[in-house]
Amino acid sequence: MPGLFVAGDCRSSTAKRVAFAVGDGALAVNCVHDYLGTYS
Ligand SMILES: Cc1cc2nc3c(=O)[nH]c(=O)nc-3n(C[C@H](O)[C@H](O)[C@H](O)COP(=O)(O)OP(=O)(O)OC[C@H]3O[C@@H](n4cnc5c(N)ncnc54)[C@H](O)[C@@H]3O)c2cc1C
Repeated sequence: MPGLFVAGDCRSSTAKRVAFAVGDGALAVNCVHDYLGTYS
């Protein structure tokens, strides 16, 4: 779904590890910035 970003255990195929969740969060922030830059 465009504009919906998730991180951590709520993702599909996640490794269910804290470090993955933290990395996902950082990546999600980047993706939000890209998304807003593209679509705002
Ligand atoms: C028993 C156990 C042991 C683990 N041991 C390890 C380990 O040794 N090493 C490791 O790397 N990983 C371990 N994990 C996995 C690790 O805890 C998770 O991968 C990580 O916490 C995922 O982070 P998250 O932010 O995605 O989810 P969570 O840490 O689960 O955070 C989700 C948050 O959302 C809140 N929430 C839920 N529903 C709502 C709602 N409707 N409204 C508002 N808030 C809501 C919850 O209260 C919670 O605070 C373990 C997990 C468990 C259960």
